[in-house]
Amino acid sequence: MTQHLPAFTAPGRFWRGNLHTHSTRSDGILQPEEVCRRYRAEGYDFLALTDHFVGQYGYPIVDTVPFRTPGFTTILGAELHSGPMQNGELWHILAVGLPADFAPGNALDFGVHPGMETGPEIAARAVAAGAFVAIAHPQWSGLTLADARSVTAAHAVEVYNHGCAAGCDRPDGFAIADLLLTEGRSLSLIATDDAHFSEPDHFGGWVMVKATENTPEALLASLKAGLFYSSQGPELRDVTVLPDRVIVESSAVASVIVQGAGTAAKGVHGASMTRTEVPLNRLAQSPWLRITVIDAAGRRAWSNPVRRDQG
Ligand SMILES: [Zn+2]
Ligand SMILES: [Zn+2]
Repeated sequence: MTQHLPAFTAPGRFWRGNLHTHSTRSDGILQPEEVCRRYRAEGYDFLALTDHFVGQYGYPIVDTVPFRTPGFTTILGAELHSGPMQNGELWHILAVGLPADFAPGNALDFGVHPGMETGPEIAARAVAAGAFVAIAHPQWSGLTLADARSVTAAHAVEVYNHGCAAGCDRPDGFAIADLLLTEGRSLSLIATDDAHFSEPDHFGGWVMVKATENTPEALLASLKAGLFYSSQGPELRDVTVLPDRVIVESSAVASVIVQGAGTAAKGVHGASMTRTEVPLNRLAQSPWLRITVIDAAGRRAWSNPVRRDQG
């Protein structure tokens, strides 16, 4: 049985975007217009501005529609907060594709208040309103596996957060995502900047979304369908899963690694590799697989997970 990862067989082309960004409408240091200008200037096709959706900032869902230009679009969104998580702090939940009139909860600030909507509740409300929803920066948040399990509405886990890498060396979401995948959850994996422009937290992690047109509607549909991969630089061009091996076509990379459940993983290393065969060995028994490629500069790209066809 041959499986292609669907992002590579779906119609359209890849569009580069950042899904997690802040501006002066919350605690970022640049005006929304300037944030959009910089992403456009850096060659991005789209941006979601996702300011902190709390009362102290007026529950912003910033209108970025005026900053769309030919070849550059924006998706409305916010970073939602309510809580608490098991550690007593508020949830951070990324919601991309919110309606402009998404109702505020009762997160007055970043504190915990009696009667607050829970994190899983506000995530479900965002999904019902049409958003693509991701569990933000699990390692930075100190998220537990029980916390992560409870957000049943989420489409994705933020597996690489560039701001958390720059600011506190806690960028990871893969550890918790892999555990959820092994429990049978269907999830996609996103890399983001979480840019505030207050430190070197921008242009370091993005998604490449396959769609037939660069419109908010088409991009959102593809995000929800998992038709994308994430990157810090390298390009993924095709991933084919065969019963005994995975074939990865990419820009020139130095390592190609396939990961699965538990300790199962296999890496192939070389020089300027663009078509790499990775034998599955005991990975062949894993119910899911995902792929990492690493270029000579150490920059990575990550596929979404694929569930193995058992037929
Ligand atoms: Zn956050
Ligand atoms: Zn953020």
